[in-house]
Amino acid sequence: KELAPPQKVVIFASPGAGHLIPLVELARRLSVDHGLAVTVVTLTGMSNPATDAAVLSSLPASVATSVFPAVSLDDLPPDIGFGTLMFELVRRSLPHLHALMEGPSGGPVTALVCDFFGTAALLLAAELGAQGYVFFPNSFALISIMRHIAELHVDATPGENRDLPDPLPLSSGPVLRHADLPNGFRDRTDLVYAYLVEEARRYGRANGFLVNSFEELEIAMAEKFKRDAEDGAFPPVYPVGPIVRSRPGKESDESACLEWLDRQLEGSVVYVSFGTGGALSVEQTAELAAGLETSGHRFLWVVRMPSLDGSPCALGTVPGANDDPLAWLPEGFLERTRGRGLAVAAWAPQVRVLSHPATAAFLSHCGWNSTLESVAAGVPMLAWPLYAEQKTNAAILTEVTGVAMRPAARGDGLVAREEIAAAVRELMEGEKRSAARCRARELREAAARAWSPEGSSRRALGEVAGKWKAALVNGNGRTA
Ligand code: UDP
Repeated sequence: KELAPPQKVVIFASPGAGHLIPLVELARRLSVDHGLAVTVVTLTGMSNPATDAAVLSSLPASVATSVFPAVSLDDLPPDIGFGTLMFELVRRSLPHLHALMEGPSGGPVTALVCDFFGTAALLLAAELGAQGYVFFPNSFALISIMRHIAELHVDATPGENRDLPDPLPLSSGPVLRHADLPNGFRDRTDLVYAYLVEEARRYGRANGFLVNSFEELEIAMAEKFKRDAEDGAFPPVYPVGPIVRSRPGKESDESACLEWLDRQLEGSVVYVSFGTGGALSVEQTAELAAGLETSGHRFLWVVRMPSLDGSPCALGTVPGANDDPLAWLPEGFLERTRGRGLAVAAWAPQVRVLSHPATAAFLSHCGWNSTLESVAAGVPMLAWPLYAEQKTNAAILTEVTGVAMRPAARGDGLVAREEIAAAVRELMEGEKRSAARCRARELREAAARAWSPEGSSRRALGEVAGKWKAALVNGNGRTA
């Protein structure tokens, strides 16, 4: 008797390393641990192709990849905003996805997994008889906000956008102040708001969600979602996190950071990074430099090109060959902090930096991957959110999980040097230090438990993979 062919799974990644990194790790586990035939699809146009390629290079040979060609976005107004562009790029790439899934090497596909910006693909999955899943590279709390948006618009006419209440109490979750809602959710006249409403309204069509969180991180919400799935009020949401990178890619020469850390005392270094898209103004860069310098503590700072137009998000800008972020640091800063601080341009091997014994704290933009990586490494955080849903993440980290402190910005948005120095000192040597470290250690253990042999996240992913493997594929490519 011939062995049944492995079931095919297509993972449709939205642009940006923050999406691709966990999806690549998910693909690896589905292929290696569960024997599924996985293809990872990436799009062209809104992420740095070199970073994408480096991230994809860590995939095992058993996982196939497909890079879709660019689609035209030229008809859209230049100031349309990053989120809207992302939704449009994904939507306009659907014909390519259709061709891949129906093509000779594509079909029949058992399951299609899209992520936050890609739920338009759920309709295609249904049309082609594949199960449609959403990988949520974020928290239960963010799914909950999306549910609120959908409920608010249940009886709305198309284009009739309604405001989320202020503050927004998430059921079984935190009460979110309006200012901490993700960008795009705060203003119903923002162009992207209509896209978010449309996106949220599609959630009910998913066969299930995989959320990059774990039960013990958001316990009350995880239980609420479980009850809602049992009652049929919402598709099942499987907490499968933390899915963080287990093997480094080849983004850059990474040895300098690690060798420098090797020479520092245990628990002495503040790691500073704003992710793959965070950009500070020139003035804010100078304040941060001065704050780190006066704090007296050791630091490893991943410096990126400053924002010259005031936007905190530089996602999608491909760096120029001659860009030198370090040239934008204040005069004399590197000399004065030599030996005590290391500033590196653009990229550090973050997962390895966070798990290095010298690293004691993470000043972070609170991207969800960075958050999970810090939690998994047991490193407390200084929350410095910039854009997207980072303020929501920061609110959860400070108010719910208690693993972060948040330096305050002035009225004009600038975080002043004194505030930065005080926050660094408080987390490194102050009264709050031991509570934050203790909480970080507890969460590190909980994160490890979630992926231990009988852990909740490992079991949840196994359950989903089991469902896909059990799906019967009939001759015309439809799953039953
Ligand atoms: N990252 C890294 N080195 C860097 C900057 C980022 O390895 O210098 C990785 C980081 O470990 C994380 C991802 O890039 O896995 C960033 O994702 P996140 O969700 O934190 O933020 P985003 O970049 O999407 O804002």
